[in-house]
Amino acid sequence: MLPDSATAILTVDLNALAGNWRLLATRAGAAECAAVVKADAYGVGASRAAPALAAAGCRTFFVATAEEGANLRHVLGPDPNILALNGPTEAVAADLLAHGVMPVLNSLGQIEVWAAAARVAGTPLAAALHVDTGMNRLGLPPAEVAVLAREPQRLDGILVALVLSHFACADEPAHPKNQDQIVSFLRLKGALAAAPASLANSAGIFLGAHTHFDLVRPGAALYGINPTPAEANPMAQVVHLQGKILQVRQIDSPESVGYGADFLAESPRRIATVAVGYADGYHRSLGGRGAGMLNGFRVPLAGRVSMDLLTLDVTDAPPGHAEPGAWISLIGGGVSVDEVAAAAGTIGYEILTSLGQRIHRVYTGGPNA
Ligand SMILES: *Cc1c(COP(=O)(O)O)cnc(C)c1O
Repeated sequence: MLPDSATAILTVDLNALAGNWRLLATRAGAAECAAVVKADAYGVGASRAAPALAAAGCRTFFVATAEEGANLRHVLGPDPNILALNGPTEAVAADLLAHGVMPVLNSLGQIEVWAAAARVAGTPLAAALHVDTGMNRLGLPPAEVAVLAREPQRLDGILVALVLSHFACADEPAHPKNQDQIVSFLRLKGALAAAPASLANSAGIFLGAHTHFDLVRPGAALYGINPTPAEANPMAQVVHLQGKILQVRQIDSPESVGYGADFLAESPRRIATVAVGYADGYHRSLGGRGAGMLNGFRVPLAGRVSMDLLTLDVTDAPPGHAEPGAWISLIGGGVSVDEVAAAAGTIGYEILTSLGQRIHRVYTGGPNA
């Protein structure tokens, strides 16, 4: 449980996480709903998040690297499918095999690596194929798909379990690139032998059933980030970051607060100092822009965020609330992760994956509750 010494807590609601997966699975209709748990499940902790998702019914998990895949296999046991998006190199092929992690093959070179691993293993090996429909980041570009179509023997020894691609602009439903990518995906997968198909990430699921194919791959929405930024967030909040007030002081005009004397009091103010800083992932760009919630009262940041501390103007909070030892919500608890991200000039993904290891983590709900 929570040690008295904890001054920053991240509470992760595993029931909300499981509920978000079920909502997305319902939205996906007949398509299978996987879960993307790369980057330690977007910073919330894959070793707790993934079992909660598995208990909710998720059978297929995506990570980025072979190492993440091996760690997840230890957590989840032998049954779930685990796919590594970054694909194999010769150096990790044996590791992928040993841990039953299926690589996503992103180039003719990666196909050759996996075909060679199959020859060594003396048995066909499963893999997913990633075709690039316009992201120009990972995946076989159309010219390499054409080579594969002409020379299908390049896939000898590889069982293609999934053909996937990835949207660049799914969070902008009206963006013309979405339709271009759907057309390109149909064309590229049509050039290959028939296999189950996957295109949609979180936001893609909300573009409509024609993007669902056989499997959808939500990440961000599972963790409470809004997959439909132009509309109300359909997802439940999963993370709640709270920082403890260390000190409260009264300052008079014209005193200043913090580095650079950025906050200049124009009238007498009460300032609360909280034990969370940019080293904890509370971005420095939130100085003078962010806000916290103290027992339901919004309290704006005053001055710059420093490494281990931030300062809030609690003048307008009712007497007795802003006292040393009281907790202020900084992400969640009335300040959505998307709102924090917008104030920081970034996206919720970066806010969550920045959350530091110094923060005390508490998990509620879930299979071990
Ligand atoms: C990260 C990632 C996802 C998940 O995207 P979200 O926007 O977080 O839902 C899906 N597919 C691929 C290939 C990814 O890299």
